[in-house]
Amino acid sequence: MESRIKKLNHKQFNNSGKYVVYVMEASQRAYFNHALEFAIALSNEKKKPLVVVFNLTDKFRFSNLRYYTFMLEGLVKLKYLLNQRGINFVIKKSDYISGSIQIAKDSVVIVTDRNYLKTQRHWRQKVAEQIDIPLFEIESDCIIPIELVSQKKEPYASTIRPKILNLLNNFLQPVDHQEPKIKSTDLEIESVNFKSHQDLLNLINIDTTVKPVSEFYEGGYDQAEKFLKIFIEQKLSHYKEYRSDPTKDYQSELSPYIHFGQISVLYIVLEILKHYDIRDENVQSFINEAVIWRELARNFCYYNPMYNHYEGIPDWAKQTLEDHLGDQRDYVYSLEDLEYAKTHDVYWNAAQIQLLKTGKMHNYMRMYWAKKLIEWTSHPKIAFDYACYLNDKYELDGRDPNGYAGISWCFGTHDRPWFERQIFGKIRYMNDKGLERKFDIKEYVKKYSSI
Ligand SMILES: Cc1cc2nc3c(=O)[nH]c(=O)nc-3n(C[C@H](O)[C@H](O)[C@H](O)COP(=O)(O)OP(=O)(O)OC[C@H]3O[C@@H](n4cnc5c(N)ncnc54)[C@H](O)[C@@H]3O)c2cc1C
Repeated sequence: MESRIKKLNHKQFNNSGKYVVYVMEASQRAYFNHALEFAIALSNEKKKPLVVVFNLTDKFRFSNLRYYTFMLEGLVKLKYLLNQRGINFVIKKSDYISGSIQIAKDSVVIVTDRNYLKTQRHWRQKVAEQIDIPLFEIESDCIIPIELVSQKKEPYASTIRPKILNLLNNFLQPVDHQEPKIKSTDLEIESVNFKSHQDLLNLINIDTTVKPVSEFYEGGYDQAEKFLKIFIEQKLSHYKEYRSDPTKDYQSELSPYIHFGQISVLYIVLEILKHYDIRDENVQSFINEAVIWRELARNFCYYNPMYNHYEGIPDWAKQTLEDHLGDQRDYVYSLEDLEYAKTHDVYWNAAQIQLLKTGKMHNYMRMYWAKKLIEWTSHPKIAFDYACYLNDKYELDGRDPNGYAGISWCFGTHDRPWFERQIFGKIRYMNDKGLERKFDIKEYVKKYSSI
């Protein structure tokens, strides 16, 4: 636990405050949440009730109905789970900074969870500066805290892998479950009133053009558990072989739940290890994605402030792409053509339709999808911006370090130079022939043929 705790300011506890507050943001869950357990321990120590606060804002750049529906479905269920543990869960109609500053006035201390993205780091910094009590940030997003693994931006998965694997066993530990000594559920505290996620949606003014996808992915811990059970019982035994095949359904489908912190990756891995040996090749393959690549993405965003910009890709990659700016492009599409899947490429269109319809594109198609943007725009910077825009707008798991690292990978990050070719230079290339050779890709097109 110690390596997960950071005090973000030098302020003193206000021992006459009414409560200990956990301002929840990244880890929206009642179990396997180090920040929550730390806050319970503090509440017991200070003999003050614990209140968990979520600041609900519509001022977030990417606010839309699709992703707010998923998140709010999860928060409504979370309230029930926290109340079961005797903890009051309060939703405030406020942004993170002003909501936290406001509640700090009556609090002993504030605890919050960790997020690796710039905006959310800035929020925490501002709160730390402006309140008069301590702000503790508790890491519960990674299995191993990022700085402990490496003090620098790691260039490849192959360089971070041994560092993570070295520490992994020590960190594959269940999160100690603390019992709150003072129940706070009856505490009178100002909150918005809600029974359903719709009540919460009615309070905010967001982009309603991106439709919810609850029939595919309903938000909440219970749904995450359901996907995890199916994964362990029906898919994991073939994960290594089939996870990359977009015509087969062998991914866990957990990324939306992981993204909103509705389920912890640590918990997922420990559940898997109840049924499988850690040396099993499928478990190894899953750990490679859910721990190595996922935590590499956090390393990337933490140590590279340009993670969501074309300028953040490696110098060799920029150089080679720019050497080929003058190459003939057979197709150049507008953002609108791309957004509504109006290209000449049926495979690409199917991937975009999968995204529009279900809120989650298959991993293999995400690589193909982003690579093609390089081919179909006049400058790789435009391609990078389009990829971020579409990914953040439509993917339920978007606005995540994985997304920025995934897009950046398609532009050379965490990859090596390949053979020189048109437009791409030395950036790894993908084409439709590869899809045809490897998969029964026509089946995928049949499944996602119209919006
Ligand atoms: C261009 C591009 C954009 C991407 N955008 C996102 C995004 O916005 N959000 C997102 O979570 N992932 C993103 N990924 C990574 C990956 O495609 C998804 O994590 C995966 O498809 C999620 O489905 P799953 O949970 O069913 O995957 P599973 O195969 O079941 O993987 C389990 C978990 O491992 C992690 N994981 C899997 N693959 C990767 C990877 N390549 N990098 C980092 N972590 C990984 C995820 O947390 C995932 O939920 C992107 C990849 C690319 C190439």
